[in-house]
Amino acid sequence: MIKILHIAIPCPLRQRFDYLSTEDNQDWTPGLRVKVPFGSRQLIGIVLQVSEIEADRDISKLKPILEKIDSTPILNDELFNLINWVSFYYHHPIGDCFQAALPKKLRHGETAELKTETFWYEKQPSELTEVTLGKKQDKILTFLKQHQTGLSQRQIKQQLGECKSSLLSLETKGIIRSSTRPKLALPLVEIEPACDLNEEQQIAVDTVWQKRQEFTPYLLQGITGSGKTEVYIQLSEQMLAEGKQVLILIPEIGLTSQFVQRFKQRLAVNIVVLNSSISDGERKQGWLLAQAGLADIVIGTRSAVFTPLTSAGLIILDEEHDSSYKQQDGLRYHARNVALVRAKKLAIPIILGSATPSLESLYHVRQKRYQLLSLTKRAGGAKLPKVRVIDSSGSDTQNGISQKLLQTIKKHIENDNQVILFINRRGFAPVLMCHECNWQAACTGCDARMVVHYHRNILFCHHCGLIQRLPEKCPTCQSGDLKNYGAGTEKVEHSLQRLFPKTPVLRIDRDTTQRVNAFTDLISDIKQGGAKILVGTQMLAKGHDFHDVTLVGVLDADQGLYSADFRATESLAQLITQVTGRAGRGEKEGEVLIQTEQPQHEFWKNLIKQGYQYTADDLLQQRIEMAMPPAGSLCVIRAEEKDQTLAMQFLTEVLTIFNQTIQQDVIIMGPVPAIMEKKAGRYRAQLLLSTQHRRCLHQLLDQHIQSISALKLARKVRWSIDIDPVDLL
Ligand code: ADP
Ligand code: ZN
Ligand code: ZN
Repeated sequence: MIKILHIAIPCPLRQRFDYLSTEDNQDWTPGLRVKVPFGSRQLIGIVLQVSEIEADRDISKLKPILEKIDSTPILNDELFNLINWVSFYYHHPIGDCFQAALPKKLRHGETAELKTETFWYEKQPSELTEVTLGKKQDKILTFLKQHQTGLSQRQIKQQLGECKSSLLSLETKGIIRSSTRPKLALPLVEIEPACDLNEEQQIAVDTVWQKRQEFTPYLLQGITGSGKTEVYIQLSEQMLAEGKQVLILIPEIGLTSQFVQRFKQRLAVNIVVLNSSISDGERKQGWLLAQAGLADIVIGTRSAVFTPLTSAGLIILDEEHDSSYKQQDGLRYHARNVALVRAKKLAIPIILGSATPSLESLYHVRQKRYQLLSLTKRAGGAKLPKVRVIDSSGSDTQNGISQKLLQTIKKHIENDNQVILFINRRGFAPVLMCHECNWQAACTGCDARMVVHYHRNILFCHHCGLIQRLPEKCPTCQSGDLKNYGAGTEKVEHSLQRLFPKTPVLRIDRDTTQRVNAFTDLISDIKQGGAKILVGTQMLAKGHDFHDVTLVGVLDADQGLYSADFRATESLAQLITQVTGRAGRGEKEGEVLIQTEQPQHEFWKNLIKQGYQYTADDLLQQRIEMAMPPAGSLCVIRAEEKDQTLAMQFLTEVLTIFNQTIQQDVIIMGPVPAIMEKKAGRYRAQLLLSTQHRRCLHQLLDQHIQSISALKLARKVRWSIDIDPVDLL
């Protein structure tokens, strides 16, 4: 019987598309991939629903699908429902949401088959016959005897070198046998023993464990180095013993290898890693292993929240305050939000871990929606460093570094310690200016300055990527008197290398870590002791454990205090607290110096004297008073177009549509041009929707989204809906 298939197709239209099934008596169920004709193209879609052809339905216009790709659904019910929820909550086209959840190769229609490999086993001794073995064969047999559960050909090769022919002749002699198994990530052979948890860690583990059969969100708040990762490892171990899978999400930048290593060293299980550095093939394999229940632990960045699981027991989201959990284009989801909804649907616990929790999570703890687990002591007894603010407004600040900071660096280097300096701007200098006529290097496509990058001899726009040769003369008056102002990582690196010619200065920013493995190499370089100065952006602030770092300097702390972004102060407090945690993690005591032109600012007094919690509570109070998130909900509708007026015009039409219904519970502001109006050659504008009742916001959008999509301009301008935006820039 032919049926009607309602299909999600990867296209920007907010609707599903109907096709006819093929004639044969196949099972048609939601979650299958099919190939369909779409205009002049052929696309891969997902079956959302299957229905019988009703008698009065005219099906003459419906096309049959071209091919059924899967015999069983590529997405199990749980994931299928989750993605439907994502589409509903973020008001994003359903086809696009499925795209976001599937690995590229599966998106493009490759079969959902696991790659396999050969495994070797020793046959039972009773089957052994008297034979003489070659040297290599003997080694292989000894190795296999030590591993009765079998070894992959890869493992054997890793340990003993190329040995294909020896394996085959052992097989012919009837001593060993082989089988084919899915290709897994190999666990380490040497496993480290668990350490004894301290009392707070034990309470955290026991609390989560006792209620493991139900949905409870936990905020694991523990200062850096208090042993949160140990709690994750211990709980994972217990979950695995019950045959459960653990999904662990971590932020995007550089953190993966160290974090994964900690788990591998302790748990001899199959750990699948899904981050941006793996190949498409590896991603597909990892995804399918998780789906088959063959991955015990999945560790991944944002999009790994969509990994299929067969027996999920626990979700962990580390550094939960990190903004990289929010996708900033396409499907603008927040992985923390999706993870919470997923844990709820699965009825399992979820742990959000951080030294500096987001105001969102602190608010939910206040509202008793999350349970707080605190780690207040640094594990292993390491002390938190002393923090001081230094005034950098005076003339003794050169190349971004004040004399006071310079003297302190000297002292630490002389004691053979390491120093980290944070500056949240890459490149050499943010301003290039002509002394004669005041010309400034500006981007032609953006309302922004071009940044000087000396190493590459270019001017570089950090907003759109425009590159120009570094001019030798002023383009307007031809004067050679060009000066640069301000400092970025390159300039700081350069001047420190001159001041400390015998000490290696390493720079860690996006420019020095682009090559695959460059970041890992730099990190292992840092871990080898001896005096060193590290100059880096935020990248370095996240989760790294450097034992010899005793001084941390923050060079440009003021940036966050005067930003137009409503979360800027929160992020600054988090960043400062996080970098503070980088000093003195080993035996040695550390100190932190923060350079600011506003040493008297209340923010510093609060943060340094009273700590992160106090500052966060204070900021939360302000948000509550202003009905801003997390006390209220926001949605931004953004539009951009090359023609200066069109984005504004489109949003004005959107506003008119909204105004057709009276919506007292949603306040609409705008449209207004974005703060940086012009970016990459397009003029940008936005409309802000704010509410105390999230449901009303969803209703309003649901009610009008079809009319908005039907606007003529909706097809001309680029526009998007951003639910729970992280910034309003
Ligand atoms: P966090 O994740 O909170 O930054 P970690 O779990 O990385 O903290 O722990 C910091 C350091 O303390 C690590 O080197 C870890 O091995 C060690 N550690 C953690 N818990 C304990 C414990 N109970 N006993 C001894 N050392 C511990
Ligand atoms: Zn000039
Ligand atoms: Zn630009």
